[in-house]
Amino acid sequence: MNIHEYQAKELLAQCGVPIQLGIACQSLDEVRPAAEKIFASGASRVVVKSQIHAGGRGKGSFKSGFQGGVKLAATCEDALAFAGQMLGQVLVTKQTGSEGRKVGTLLLTAGAHIKKEFYLAVLLDRANSRPLIMASTEGGMDIEEVAEKTPEKIFKEWIDPAVGIMPYQARKISAALGLRGDLIALGAKLISGVYKTWWENDATMVEINPLCVIEAADGKEALLALDGKISLDDNALYRHKNIQAMRDLNEEAPLEIEASKFNLNYIKLDGSIACLVNGAGLAMATMDIIQHFGGNPANFLDVGGGASKEQVTAAFKIILMDPHVKGILVNIFGGIMDCNVIATGIVAAVKETGLTLPLVVRLEGNNVVAGQKTLAESGLTLITGTSMADAAQKVVKAVAA
Ligand code: GDP
Ligand code: MG
Repeated sequence: MNIHEYQAKELLAQCGVPIQLGIACQSLDEVRPAAEKIFASGASRVVVKSQIHAGGRGKGSFKSGFQGGVKLAATCEDALAFAGQMLGQVLVTKQTGSEGRKVGTLLLTAGAHIKKEFYLAVLLDRANSRPLIMASTEGGMDIEEVAEKTPEKIFKEWIDPAVGIMPYQARKISAALGLRGDLIALGAKLISGVYKTWWENDATMVEINPLCVIEAADGKEALLALDGKISLDDNALYRHKNIQAMRDLNEEAPLEIEASKFNLNYIKLDGSIACLVNGAGLAMATMDIIQHFGGNPANFLDVGGGASKEQVTAAFKIILMDPHVKGILVNIFGGIMDCNVIATGIVAAVKETGLTLPLVVRLEGNNVVAGQKTLAESGLTLITGTSMADAAQKVVKAVAA
């Protein structure tokens, strides 16, 4: 699961990472009081920031033609004008794809006087089975580009998960960022806080880009996390009620939300052959074999090992809500799964939805004879696949016809 910048900053602040004063606004009415409050705190500028689950907002552009999803306002009027151009509008960035994302929330923050921008991230290095902290002096811009063209500019420090980040490691990263004097200790504290945020929230990634050296009101230099992005491990969400409440359904594909209500693992793709499969591995193999025979999968759908008739019916309905679907392939290997439950679900779903698209079914395993009997006696016109390859070829052919 992903969360918005303003939510990420909340989690970071709880772990002692310094952030600017910020106020999230869901409507234009909230913008003026928020901006007034930030100016009253002594800020000379208010930053108006579009909240979407994608980066590159600063350089993004709205479909309306308005440029920039992050804007610095010198007055309340300016802040309100920027907010008016952003709220409810679709922002396209390098990370959103051409369809963009609709902005439903803005974050107003106190503008910082930036002196230097760095990159800092904590993620899981699966190859080394360890958390990895990456830091670079080349913050603010495209880190992917830095990683590709000048990888030596990214400093890496692996953490022993049993011990956690050691003070010397935090200082080492601070020094690698070129911090000097008082800033070394401030940096070490901030880096430890970012690691703590990653660890305590079961995040898969915490990214601060940019992490800034700023000139504070007293003229001294200080550090601030100016941007924050956090991705969380869905498998651990059950133990973070506060994070569950941060879920923003507007950022998720409607069909995927519907699927999650039925505990179905559904991911929409852009092909025309819908798949209904039990087990993630078999679902991947099914998508591969469809491609192998020249077709394109419309989705990944794993109904799980012990799906009920209701789940199968729901799965069918979700598949059919995608207008690009031209045919369906059901590929079930009944280990725990009873093939007859699937067959009953298919029959119910086809009758309920009045399905007219070609439907290829391959059933194998536990109680398969009863399942095939259910299908045969249902009176439905469906195509039976004798093997996975046979079923895939049949559905590709049926869709092409
Ligand atoms: P992103 O484009 O989605 O990564 O959004 P960011 O939050 O990183 O903002 C984009 C850019 O806006 C930053 O890299 C900064 O250069 C600039 N920016 C954001 N906040 C401030 C601020 O408080 N003061 C100044 N001067 N610039 C800011
Ligand atoms: Mg950024």
